[in-house]
Amino acid sequence: MRLVLFGPPGCGKGTQAVFIKNKFNLPHLSTGDILRAAVQKKTKIGKQAKEIMESGRLVSDEIVVGIVKERLEHSDCRNGFIFDGFPRTLDQAISLDSEKKKKKELIDRVIEIQVDKEEILKRIIGRFSCYSCSANYHETLNPVKIIGICDFCGESKFTKRDDDNEKTVRLRFETYYKDTEPLIPFYEKKGIMSKVNGMKKISDVSKNIEEILN
Ligand code: AMP
Repeated sequence: MRLVLFGPPGCGKGTQAVFIKNKFNLPHLSTGDILRAAVQKKTKIGKQAKEIMESGRLVSDEIVVGIVKERLEHSDCRNGFIFDGFPRTLDQAISLDSEKKKKKELIDRVIEIQVDKEEILKRIIGRFSCYSCSANYHETLNPVKIIGICDFCGESKFTKRDDDNEKTVRLRFETYYKDTEPLIPFYEKKGIMSKVNGMKKISDVSKNIEEILN
């Protein structure tokens, strides 16, 4: 199962990726998480990406495709993976075509999570995630069950993203509509696109995704 979770920033890709990862035992490949780790470690890529990420623009295709191709070499990706936040441009998607095995597409299914823009803004402002396992939460919409403790791994440290402020989120939307949305017809033509209504409760969205994957 080689999946792409698709949709605008804050639509719930990260949350649903954690659900799929636990349910189907697949690695969660979030280019955003990989880049944020590089920024934190102050690696060469991290230094190049920091300012771009803070401004809501996209890191270069060359850097991101390099990261992804390297990650796909790891043995845990042999039986499948979940892409979260990748591909984000047509060139990134086309670069995956060079990874085709015996003319078989690298990607089996793309799931678009559809959510209204204003709802997304509410969701992003107030979200935070687990420092250890990256599980996503929201102060009011999806709080932890026990205050200060991650539901999944028990960690007590949480982080908030630097780019989760209203100004940057609006720029991230613009980037999404300009560079990423054109991928929808690209995958529709390949006949591998499914859509779920992301306005529903998290557990109902998960249920819809599970039905598609089964
Ligand atoms: P995300 O966590 O997926 O929202 O990504 C956070 C930021 O990382 C984005 O706003 C981009 O600056 C950068 N980024 C993540 N994935 C990609 C990608 N596939 N292509 C280019 N930039 C990316």
